[in-house]
Amino acid sequence: MGVIRRFFTYYKPHKRLFMLDFGSACVVAVLELAFPLAVQWFVDTLLPEGEWRTIVLAGTGLFALYLVSTGLQFVVNYWGHKLGINIETDMRQQLFQHVQKLSFRFFDNTKTGYLMSRMTNDLFDIGEMAHHGPEDLFIACMTFVAAFAIMLSINPQLALITFVAVPLLVWLIGVCNKLLHGAARKMYAEIAEVNARVEDSMSGIRVVKSFTNETFEMEKFNRDNANFRKAKLRSYWIISFSSSGIYFLTRIFALLVLMFGAYFSFNGKLTYGELIGFLLYVNLFFKPIEKINALLEMYPKGMAGFKRFTELLDTAADVADEPNAAEIGPLRGDIVFRDVTFGYEGHAKVLQHINLRIPAGETVAFVGPSGAGKTTLCSLIPRFYEVDEGAIEIDGVDIRAMTQRSLRRNIGIVQQDVFLFTGTIRENIAYGKLNATEAEIREAARRAHLESFIEAQPAGFDTQIGERGIKLSGGQKQRLAIARMFLKNPPILILDEATSALDTETEAVIQQALEELSANRTTLVIAHRLATIRHADRIVVVTEDGIAEQGRYDELVERGGAFAGLHRAQFETVG
Ligand code: ADP
Ligand code: MG
Repeated sequence: MGVIRRFFTYYKPHKRLFMLDFGSACVVAVLELAFPLAVQWFVDTLLPEGEWRTIVLAGTGLFALYLVSTGLQFVVNYWGHKLGINIETDMRQQLFQHVQKLSFRFFDNTKTGYLMSRMTNDLFDIGEMAHHGPEDLFIACMTFVAAFAIMLSINPQLALITFVAVPLLVWLIGVCNKLLHGAARKMYAEIAEVNARVEDSMSGIRVVKSFTNETFEMEKFNRDNANFRKAKLRSYWIISFSSSGIYFLTRIFALLVLMFGAYFSFNGKLTYGELIGFLLYVNLFFKPIEKINALLEMYPKGMAGFKRFTELLDTAADVADEPNAAEIGPLRGDIVFRDVTFGYEGHAKVLQHINLRIPAGETVAFVGPSGAGKTTLCSLIPRFYEVDEGAIEIDGVDIRAMTQRSLRRNIGIVQQDVFLFTGTIRENIAYGKLNATEAEIREAARRAHLESFIEAQPAGFDTQIGERGIKLSGGQKQRLAIARMFLKNPPILILDEATSALDTETEAVIQQALEELSANRTTLVIAHRLATIRHADRIVVVTEDGIAEQGRYDELVERGGAFAGLHRAQFETVG
């Protein structure tokens, strides 16, 4: 589908608004075209008659027409912009919805700041273009043709002289526009860069400060900001040049018309009324060209934004639901890895030919060196990434035969770095079950051993936890994440180093909460400290070469293999 045609599909839901706006704009244009004729008639017919009564009558008639025109212009301004903002809102909504569906791989490779640019700045100009584009273009063309026809009828010679300006103007506008196209693209790229930089620096502000690298960050920011300034200045230069050029050409030609008109009028070929009328039409004739120029300025910006919008909208999710994927209910949680091989884009395979069975209700611990692929292995179960070869089955069904939503409803993940949302404790717990009752939320908080902490807060459950939960300690955040999981109540639980960042005392409390949480669920524990997994039903040792060995804790220590090595290392240094 052509990009323009695609653009027009966004008008569909707002057809009536468009008709209202377009119709009003057309009437305004026709009235504009009629006014010079009226003036001409006024000067040539009414003035010589010298009848004061008819003159007042004509004035009153014109007044009425101006009133109508003013009202319609209001309609065009307000409802026209309403049309634009409606389309912009639709697009923004559609984009947000689409981006939410994209997969982990996309977000691994995309800066948040870029997405923010796409959803804000880029769409402003699209909204403007949506309103002005088709309407102004149509009216400009209509006015241009009609004004020229009337000018021809008044005086063909003068009309032809005026017309000489057109190719000059078209050439000037064409050249400037081409330059502007490139400048607009560059400008958008630069502002996206600035946004991405702000995003990055601000979300990492605590790291920046602790390294006292403010100056370093500022220099990077200033570079991007200066690049944006340069790009924007360049587009202003082009715009200024073209509008000055247009101004010069149109005024010069108006002057020529005045001089030739005076000459024709001396020779009795032109009445005063015709000369005045003609001069007014010259303005009307050039106005559309200026209008089109303004449009051509807006068009590349809007289109650049629209292309970026469609680019993102056309990005398919790496992991998509199969057409006949089933919406499944609660699973038992019997997980099987069948010869699974997986690697991230452009990296060597992280997992190769993994075979593993985790019966429902079992607690399996994964240990092994950092970077071996434990987190990766677990993130394949909720289908955050797609396996390259092999298959993962839950309760005997390939996870690709389930919808992602229904699959993920069955899986809960607690990670080392918990992500909390700005808001209250209550809101963050309820994130696990959006329609949870007050009693359920309290029960979840109690089971996560969060009660005494919440009671100590002056605002209780309504305590604001700051951006990403910055006002909470690591242990408190972790318990909030656990409370959230009690509410979600999934049959499969993944604990990815959930206690690794905590001190031993806090760890003990949280360990207890986690044990309660994992009761009656299939639980995959990735653990750094071996003491925390002593009671696991099974331990799987993952190394760069895959699964090295598995068994119960004591068995593995006795066997004297990889696990025994890890065990020795940890208990010798930790004591
Ligand atoms: P572990 O959890 O055992 O420490 P991971 O599963 O996190 O290991 O990582 C396994 C390997 O995959 C590492 O080499 C890591 O660099 C790489 N990796 C992890 N996540 C990504 C990602 N999102 N994109 C590309 N490579 C990744
Ligand atoms: Mg990991």
